[in-house]
Amino acid sequence: MTRRGAARAAAVLALALLPLTAESIDRLVVTWHPVRPRIGDISWVHVRGASDAAVIEGSVGTRPLAFFAYAGGHAALLGLDIDTKPGAHPWRLAVLEPGVDPHQLSGTVTVRPRAFPVQRLTVAPGLADPDPETERRAMAEGQQLQMLYRTISPERLWRGPFVRPIAGTEPPSGFGARRIINGRPRTPHGGADYSAPRGTPVVAANSGRVALVGDYFFPGRLVALDHGLGLYTLYFHLDTVAVTEGDHVDRGQTLGTVGATGRATGPHLHFGAQVGGARVDPAALLALRLAD
Ligand SMILES: [Zn+2]
Repeated sequence: MTRRGAARAAAVLALALLPLTAESIDRLVVTWHPVRPRIGDISWVHVRGASDAAVIEGSVGTRPLAFFAYAGGHAALLGLDIDTKPGAHPWRLAVLEPGVDPHQLSGTVTVRPRAFPVQRLTVAPGLADPDPETERRAMAEGQQLQMLYRTISPERLWRGPFVRPIAGTEPPSGFGARRIINGRPRTPHGGADYSAPRGTPVVAANSGRVALVGDYFFPGRLVALDHGLGLYTLYFHLDTVAVTEGDHVDRGQTLGTVGATGRATGPHLHFGAQVGGARVDPAALLALRLAD
């Protein structure tokens, strides 16, 4: 075999070895990490081969992807909501580059199933079944939060790994639990709970902007951080709050202290994470490793 022939054979072999989830058109390569995420995971897609000037738009099912510059290419996070159906979910991307015809790419991400525990809780009757006026208030507050989570700030504000919101090593519990409160099934638990004494400092999991400080019926005193590109972290049931809306915070900066405000059976931190409106496992956020 000539040297050129060997090079060509190596190139053909390299193409054959590309993972099935990588789609390439011309020079564009799309790779998903991990290849087969579970319900509640954060997956991310890496697009290589487009110019720095390229604008990439995309979605998985109905969820939009917000791309950012990453490792000489472009990347976007995908949140696999707690209620995602296992199986294949279609994705599509459009790569728009000045002076070049737009490229359309598509494929599927296969989501693995995950079993969630069932949790039975007893709370004061007024907290389980609020009176109609309180119910309206709680509903309006829930809608306000949904609107916030769907707001995609264009700038990426986080860098490096996300850290635990309270000191210690004990893992949080309860993400995805199918909750039965006072004998009636409720919406699944969208965050993870850290039990800690009242007054324990709560810190920002990463840098971002304080998008909301509130005192809501179910979450109690709360802080929502916007990390940009549709990624939010949430800190509920706080006793005190040490930041105000609009503040920029750094990773590890104190946001307030653990309490038992709102619907809480005792002092604990409810820590939530949202990616593009998907409720994801905060543990997946803490495990997220991008090389920057
Ligand atoms: Zn909770």
